[in-house]
Amino acid sequence: MGLMEKIVSLCKRRGFIFPSSEIYGGIGSVYDYGHYGVLLKNNVKQLWWQANVLKREEVVGLDSAVILHPRVWQASGHVSSFTDPLVECKECHQRYRADYLLEGKYGDIKTIDGKPRCPACGGELTEEKKFNLMFKTYIGAVENTASAAYLRPETAQGIFVNFKTIMITNSQKIPFGIAQIGKAFRNEITPGNFTFRTREFEQMEIEFFVEPGTDEKWHKYWLDERIKWYQKLGIKKDNLRLRQHTKKELSHYSKDTYDVEYQFPWGWGELEGIANRTDFDLKEHQKYSGRDLTYFDETTKKTYIPYVIEPSAGADRATLAFLIDSYYEDGKRIVLQLHPQLAPIKVAIFPLVANKPDLIRVAKKIYEMLRTQLVVAFDDRGNIGKRYYAQDEIGTPWCVTIDYDTLKDNTVTVRDRDTTKQERVKAEALIAYFNEKLKTL
Ligand code: ATP
Repeated sequence: MGLMEKIVSLCKRRGFIFPSSEIYGGIGSVYDYGHYGVLLKNNVKQLWWQANVLKREEVVGLDSAVILHPRVWQASGHVSSFTDPLVECKECHQRYRADYLLEGKYGDIKTIDGKPRCPACGGELTEEKKFNLMFKTYIGAVENTASAAYLRPETAQGIFVNFKTIMITNSQKIPFGIAQIGKAFRNEITPGNFTFRTREFEQMEIEFFVEPGTDEKWHKYWLDERIKWYQKLGIKKDNLRLRQHTKKELSHYSKDTYDVEYQFPWGWGELEGIANRTDFDLKEHQKYSGRDLTYFDETTKKTYIPYVIEPSAGADRATLAFLIDSYYEDGKRIVLQLHPQLAPIKVAIFPLVANKPDLIRVAKKIYEMLRTQLVVAFDDRGNIGKRYYAQDEIGTPWCVTIDYDTLKDNTVTVRDRDTTKQERVKAEALIAYFNEKLKTL
């Protein structure tokens, strides 16, 4: 079994991530997150929020709507330019991204007279046409052009249209940023690779507003910050790289973009794009809305439209990368060596054997005590080896066992997931013990 198959299978077996609407046969490339999956993804989002909003005076938060005024997407260029080149097989009607065909992302394909043929059946492909990735919907009871709207394909525009209000209500001065986590929707031509490319996903975006001329310096700053974040949370250095976009690749709004890439089992893939969006978006919104979106710098007395540096990450892709990077097999033992801050469950509590009321009573008491501060689990099923095995697979960093000695001296054993070493600790010291471990990480 390849690594990716093992990850997908573990995710399903333990209920992290599984196909959506499965009782109806599933719906292509749409996934649901079960209990451990939600806990893990929430930790990813919280740790991002902590590092980029709570720990910074100069970044504030936002939660804007998914459906914005349709003019927003005209101003931003998404109606005209948010397209992928689409070709369709005239025989089997499979659809492909023309650029991916040429890059070999659908594998080795036949060509006739230099023209690529369908990877599935070898049939002739149609001419390339532009396919807009935005999901269209209608507002209200009438379905016509006037009521058409879009589900946002990025959270960024909600930030740009609120830029002035947020700056004023939070008394921010440039440089400052606005951050947002939320769903985005793209009608991808070929989704795939598990949760790497889906049509509904979550983004974690910062728009950082700076004075023109200082943009390149800030771009470098955010590249460093964001790489450090992934490394601090345990992604191996060799599996991460920064890749600069070629001129041809650059989005319509970008002066310069770098991707933070992760070495996925199928090759390098983007985790996050960090773009210098210049003053493109604010300028366009000023033009389309007729509102003044300039900034007056009281120190230099200069008025300008700020430039924007945008670190734009995917919560689902980051979650997937953390799962893959932490997967470890040690003989029969399968372990997710997740950074403890990311681990869905921090501590599991076990009574040594299941049918001893005294042990269960004390174990429950310890469980209730730890539960006030940490995400903990209680397990008294089967033998202790099986319980360790289950916790290793979901990445729980510590397991606490209550045994006969506990009844005498109120100490417990704490077993470390990665070393499997055990340590005896006083039950009343456990909260401080785990808090200290989590703090120093
Ligand atoms: P790609 O080149 O892989 O299509 P992109 O360059 O279009 O990605 P951006 O527009 O930079 O992506 O979006 C920022 C982030 O949002 C990406 O780095 C990724 O983590 C996430 N993202 C974008 N599209 C998807 C998708 N279809 N499924 C899951 N996450 C996505």
